[in-house]
Formats: sequence, C-alpha cells, structure tokens
Amino acid sequence: MVKDLEMLYAEVRRDLDAIAIPYRPVDRLTIHTRWTRRWGECRIRNGEVEAIGISARLLQDDVPDQAVKNVIAHELLHTVRGCYAHRGKWQQLADMVNRALLSYRITCTAKAEEYGLAPPEQKPPCYVLLCTACGMRYDRQRRSKAVQNPGRYRCGRCGGPLVARHTGDVK
Ligand SMILES: [Zn+2]
Ligand SMILES: [Zn+2]
Repeated sequence: MVKDLEMLYAEVRRDLDAIAIPYRPVDRLTIHTRWTRRWGECRIRNGEVEAIGISARLLQDDVPDQAVKNVIAHELLHTVRGCYAHRGKWQQLADMVNRALLSYRITCTAKAEEYGLAPPEQKPPCYVLLCTACGMRYDRQRRSKAVQNPGRYRCGRCGGPLVARHTGDVK
C-alpha cells in the first residue's frame, strides 16, 4: 500500500491557495523509482513548468504524509516566477508557508532522518547538470555558471548538450 500522490498534491494546492501563493499549475507529476539521493525536483524548461518529480521512496507507508507534502510544496514554490533558486523570493515564500501553515516545514534540503530513513552519505547537491546524450550527471552544490547557462557547456564525457535541473529536496 502506497500513498495517493494525487490526493496529497490536491491537499497541498488547497493549503497554498488558502494563503494565496501564486504557484503555477503543473500538468505532470512523475514518480521516480530509481532516485537514491533526492526527494523531488521541479523541471522548468524555457521558463515553462514541465513536471514535478517525486521519489517513490517518499510514497511508502513509513513516511509521514506531511513529509511528502513538504516536498510537494517545496517544488510548487519553484514554479512561482523568479523562484528557481533557493534564495530571495523562494526563501521568502517558504518562510511564509512555514509561518502561516503550522504543519509545514519547507527546507532547502530535507534530511533523510526527518523521514525516518537512513542518513545520507554525503552532502547533497542542490543542482544537477544532465547530459541529454549519454545521461551523465554532474552534481553541483551551487548555482554555478554552468547551472545558469547549461547551453554554453558540454558534457565532459561525450560532448553532448547539457540541461540544468534543480534537485532540491535531496536527502
Ligand atoms: Zn554525455
Ligand atoms: Zn528546491
């Protein structure tokens, strides 16, 4: 028995609507079964929201519903214009949610222990550069130049084009 992601997503939207957070609608929720180092991601391409991804691990029964809602809310805040990075406006909105909705605790990177899971082996990346040709991934702690302008860089392994993603919610 796993959690109903759509139901939790609807609850988060209702909660954020109640305090007028201007998130943008997300058509696609994707569940990732192979992630080992992150909980969620918000994929934005050319300024448009493509999808929100959630780790399948979070949907297991041993994880509190609120932990999943924290991740969904974290990712929805990234859909607000100007909120791609974990700072400035994103942080302000996260603070607002945490203050107004007492059950929420949105953080930049949620710790595995908060979900009752094994602690991480290393500091998680906040961003990742992915090679669209060979699938190589390059973890980045910071919003580096390559993260900001992946089109100007190439994969170190195969020379293929890179895309930047926000991994957020890494354990
Ligand atoms: Zn490559
Ligand atoms: Zn994030």
